[in-house]
Amino acid sequence: MTFNSVLDNVNIYEAGKPIELVVRDYGIDPKDIIKLASNENPYGTSPKVIKALQKKSSSAFVYPDDSMYELKEALAKRFRVEDKNVIIGAGSDQIIEFCVHAKCTKKSKVLMAKTTFAMYEIYAKQTSATILKTPSDQHNLDEFRKIYEKEGADIIFLCLPNNPMGECLDAKDVYKFLDEIDKDTLVVLDGAYQEYASYKDSAKKIDVKKVIKKYPNVIYLGTFSKAYALGGLRVGYGIANINIIQNLYKLRPPFNVTTLSLEAGKIALQDEKFVQKCIKKNFKEMKRYEKYCVNNSLKFIPSYTNFITIYTGKAISKEIAQKLLELGIIVRDMTGYGQNAIRITIGTKEQNKKVFKSLDKLLNLKKQ
Ligand SMILES: *Cc1c(COP(=O)(O)O)cnc(C)c1O
Repeated sequence: MTFNSVLDNVNIYEAGKPIELVVRDYGIDPKDIIKLASNENPYGTSPKVIKALQKKSSSAFVYPDDSMYELKEALAKRFRVEDKNVIIGAGSDQIIEFCVHAKCTKKSKVLMAKTTFAMYEIYAKQTSATILKTPSDQHNLDEFRKIYEKEGADIIFLCLPNNPMGECLDAKDVYKFLDEIDKDTLVVLDGAYQEYASYKDSAKKIDVKKVIKKYPNVIYLGTFSKAYALGGLRVGYGIANINIIQNLYKLRPPFNVTTLSLEAGKIALQDEKFVQKCIKKNFKEMKRYEKYCVNNSLKFIPSYTNFITIYTGKAISKEIAQKLLELGIIVRDMTGYGQNAIRITIGTKEQNKKVFKSLDKLLNLKKQ
């Protein structure tokens, strides 16, 4: 059978290995498996959310509230914008998809950092748009400027902080960049890890209200999958000028977010104490990783997220990731991103201890 030839060029997204597969492939007991490959919150979902979900589950037979009124209102309040400025998706991934399809034809250009979130490129390729990448792996706004001046772009993706590298631009530099961008270019500010970045350094915090007021061509994306610990429920959002939101709505399938996802998002926003506690622990554990790397002369990228990218030196990262997997530790190999590195989600103290012990062995590290 022949398919749309555009698809010949589209890669299939490779998600972090699920626990179920590791159980099946390596016969490891599920409770001994440590999943640190998809940047989930290792402390689990807030107990308040779990309780609300149990209560709400009796509504499973009814279609969700397609106006998504309650969660929209909660997000609007959080970001001090109006309901009309908010769109909710099955993960912020779905909003990325809407953005690309709303803006791109095969004549379009999409500009992004060399090493960034894989879905930007995958969605862009579905439209046959031309992909433009900066030469550096990490975000460098001068490189973005240079390419933009020469080539122009229909969409620019800034990942703040950047997955899978972990670096983050300062908000003031982002604003300065936005001043220079034509109003017909859609700029996507992907804030999937903004909660972490702004906790670590307030200079990274994007003022969403200010940005969408001042720049009618900017959309801010957030997700409940990371700090808010709802990865399994697929809920994320976009915040922008009404004109952008209305056009994205034209691409939205009906009932794209489930009743339980909407409820979980709403309650998760009410339990900010839980989220802040998790973020605090994240950076305490992050310090352990940094210290571990320094002590063992392993290069790493200082991270503003809940993961750390560590270069494996002489060892081949793909092999290290595979050997970790056989020990029940799932991490992300970065060979596909052109890096001889592994990306490890910061786990709980106990999980991280096991990671260090296993790395000691696999990398033949001498104890100092
Ligand atoms: C995880 C992630 C997302 C989206 O996650 P969803 O689960 O689809 O909300 C978007 N951007 C980046 C950079 C991410 O790491």
